Amino acid sequence: MINVTKSFLPPLEEYNVYLKEIWKMNWLTNDGPFVRQLEEKLRDKLKTNRLFYVANGTSALRVSIKALELEGEIITTAFSYVATTTAIIAENCIPIFCDIDPETLTIDPEKIEELIGDKTSAILATHVYGNPCNIERIEKIAEQHNIKVIYDAAACFNVKYQSKSLYAYGDLSIASFHATKIFHTVEGGAIFCNTAGLEDKIDLYRAFGHRGEEAESYIYAGINAKNSEFHAAMGLCNLKYIDDVIAARQKITSFYDNELRQLPIKMPAIRGNTDSNYAYYPVIFSNEAKMHEVNKALEEEEIYPRRYFYPALNTLKYVRYASCPIAEEIAKKILCLPLYYDLAVEDQQRICRIISGCF
Ligand SMILES: *Cc1c(COP(=O)(O)O)cnc(C)c1O
Repeated sequence: MINVTKSFLPPLEEYNVYLKEIWKMNWLTNDGPFVRQLEEKLRDKLKTNRLFYVANGTSALRVSIKALELEGEIITTAFSYVATTTAIIAENCIPIFCDIDPETLTIDPEKIEELIGDKTSAILATHVYGNPCNIERIEKIAEQHNIKVIYDAAACFNVKYQSKSLYAYGDLSIASFHATKIFHTVEGGAIFCNTAGLEDKIDLYRAFGHRGEEAESYIYAGINAKNSEFHAAMGLCNLKYIDDVIAARQKITSFYDNELRQLPIKMPAIRGNTDSNYAYYPVIFSNEAKMHEVNKALEEEEIYPRRYFYPALNTLKYVRYASCPIAEEIAKKILCLPLYYDLAVEDQQRICRIISGCF
């Protein structure tokens, strides 16, 4: 069976070294030494501003909304994973859905401005599959209207835009280190703080909004978004292999590119000046029926691509619907193909042969 992704696991002996250390220290969670070490190493590797390691990408989004004190309406993309929307709802804000650019699949800045009103406090946009949004236009709009920008950069590990980490853009950016992402800590995430002065707030909001023992030390209504020494240890192990993992994915991506080039299918356009991390291999078919046909042909061979992202978020039953025809159409006819570090060449060939056979 071949799934859309497979988590990288480091050699067990290497993880065991950390476990022994945890047993010795008897320090399991709450800003422990491995959490701090991981934060330091990530900052060093990615060359970013200060970052805060948290429990997952979703809580990173929630803590970001809290730290920026957002309220009212947040303009967000209709094409992302559901957590982008649910984090807004969980923080008592209203998601206002904006359609996407049909080529890059990121939020369409031309359509943001008409959605801005008195109640708008921020834009929460996703760098879709690690593909950067139109950062320059979004920044300008946010400045003109005095609203904040958060990037859901969940899948952007090691992506560079204009030679700088993609995490370094926006007032805040968030990452997910979930087991399905290219760099993972089993569960995990991070907030990259690009706004001086917010650091302490983020640090507090991720730990109940409380520091110290006095009655006055309960400062904010925070949440528990902390992560553990066990998770941080997995990150420290995986970090050593991430360059190899990305190189392997780059090779598979080139293979798919070559084999599938002749078919009447489309891949999202990558913005210029981007160093990709090959996190996904999305394919856009001409229509939903064709997508189903290919999906079925692969499933018959026990190969499971993923409908991702599906459905469009503006169509969720618990949100206020707003028409986003491009996102709705793309969500129906896009599939992510299997892509992981040790996907065998024969399997890559087989996948391409099955897909080609549908045309
Ligand atoms: C994975 C993902 C998330 C959620 O991250 P978790 O760590 O699973 O909470 C949010 N947004 C996008 C775009 C994602 O890909």
